[in-house]
Amino acid sequence: MKYLHLVTLLAFTVVSCQQKETPPTNPTTEKPEVIVHDEYGGEEPTEPEGTEYYEPKVPVTGPALNGKAPKDATVLFDGSSLEGWVHSKDSTAAKWHLNDDGSMTVADKTGNIQTERVFGDIQLHIEWKSPADVQRDGQNRGNSGIFLNGLYEVQVLDNNDNDTYVNGQVGSIYKQTPPLAMASVASGEWNTYDIIYHAPEFNAEGGKIKSGTLTVLHNGVLVQDHTEIKGTTPYIGWPKNPAHGKGPLLLQDHGDNSRVSYRNIWVREL
Ligand code: MG
Repeated sequence: MKYLHLVTLLAFTVVSCQQKETPPTNPTTEKPEVIVHDEYGGEEPTEPEGTEYYEPKVPVTGPALNGKAPKDATVLFDGSSLEGWVHSKDSTAAKWHLNDDGSMTVADKTGNIQTERVFGDIQLHIEWKSPADVQRDGQNRGNSGIFLNGLYEVQVLDNNDNDTYVNGQVGSIYKQTPPLAMASVASGEWNTYDIIYHAPEFNAEGGKIKSGTLTVLHNGVLVQDHTEIKGTTPYIGWPKNPAHGKGPLLLQDHGDNSRVSYRNIWVREL
């Protein structure tokens, strides 16, 4: 019994000594650690002003609401004329219908039209509607398309009660990536697309070194989220990746009397 007491006392003494060797830290008396962060310019400031800056000034664009372009945008179509738009096949002046309500409509089988101006990375606003007089099914109902860089199609389609392959439905990157949601208004009403396009990059030998991307909001709903563009968007075959620089914005005549209309088209170069 005496031996047991001695062992217990010894063990208690050892534990007590160990605790004394590592006293608890006291945050109120400890000096704060100096954080040096080269990315932010060295030693961490201790005053709020040390992390605030005023130059360069941010440009004032005003809002982009109700189809109106912000101040720094390039307006490509405001409903007054088709100036600046040509047919893709022969560069003649666009012969689509110019309507009294400030829109334009595909003229049957006249072919695709595109801007004379060319663009690289852009923010694009565009509004479109399929005919209220619903005709045909699948890909032949209100089909058009918006080709970024003249090559990469964001699909325009009347998908209301009209199923088709999902990677060809409205809001898809055609034959590549289905949309995250189907956000169309009723047939015959105006849809909006707000698109952020970043062009692919190519090396001097013409090889693609960085894919392009597309972000698309359809009526305010995110349907493409910084989606990788795998290449061109052909009806038949795999995507291709020809080297290119800037290109036009192209609107599709699907060739089936789809009569899709467009209005309020503007871009901001990024
Ligand atoms: Mg199409």
